[in-house]
Amino acid sequence: MTSVLVLGAGSSAGTPVVACTCPVCTEAHPRNLRSRASCLIEHQGVQLLVDTGPDMRTQMLREKVSRVDAVLYTHPHADHLNGIDDLRAFCFRQQQAIPVYGNPFTMRNIEERFGYVTLPPTAHWERPVLTLNPVEAPFTVQGVTVTPIPLLHGNWPILGYRVGKVAWLTDVSTIPESSWPLLEGLELLFLDCLRQRPHHTHMSLDEAMVAASRIQAQQTWFIHMTHDIDANALRTQLPDGMDFAWDGLRLTTS
Ligand SMILES: [Zn+2]
Ligand SMILES: [Zn+2]
Ligand SMILES: [Zn+2]
Repeated sequence: MTSVLVLGAGSSAGTPVVACTCPVCTEAHPRNLRSRASCLIEHQGVQLLVDTGPDMRTQMLREKVSRVDAVLYTHPHADHLNGIDDLRAFCFRQQQAIPVYGNPFTMRNIEERFGYVTLPPTAHWERPVLTLNPVEAPFTVQGVTVTPIPLLHGNWPILGYRVGKVAWLTDVSTIPESSWPLLEGLELLFLDCLRQRPHHTHMSLDEAMVAASRIQAQQTWFIHMTHDIDANALRTQLPDGMDFAWDGLRLTTS
């Protein structure tokens, strides 16, 4: 059994967008309130956080998350990484370094931009204390197997992740042929769906529906939507088994 808590279902700007006066942003329907994309996956009691965006602190407070055993980074764009300093609270509470994982490109980027996270802890734990683990193949965190799913985000090599029958694929424009077999037999698929118009580094709604139909998860939940997606209006047009995720959505596999 694997549980997923959607911490954020939004794109880089979030929805509502600051200062935007469009109907989606001003009406602020609960299905259209989307902080920056992130989720917490729990399997056999191990809590895995996917990404640390700028909304991480408020997401953790909102959902009363009390422990993070590891962080799975998809890629180093600001909307997925720049909340990294707020891992400090968990390092302090747990009194230990937190292991973080990502492809070598992402780990190098974190080391260049936030190199202080690799320093040893001080008595005051005033910085996050992390261990950077470059991964390209399945690995385990406290006995839980995590499968990285290589993806393309424009021309950036990034990772999605699979744990049990759950996969989180954000910021993807192309799923390489070799990654499709890693997505067989899913119960819950979370998939990038930026907006209705095409975009060169993300799947559009049409592209996401085509990919979801090929993957054939029992349920597909779209994530990383901009304010162009009025989830409350558009969801009625989606095929059975597909819907737009929202902040705070909790799901569990059988
Ligand atoms: Zn993003
Ligand atoms: Zn707007
Ligand atoms: Zn991105």
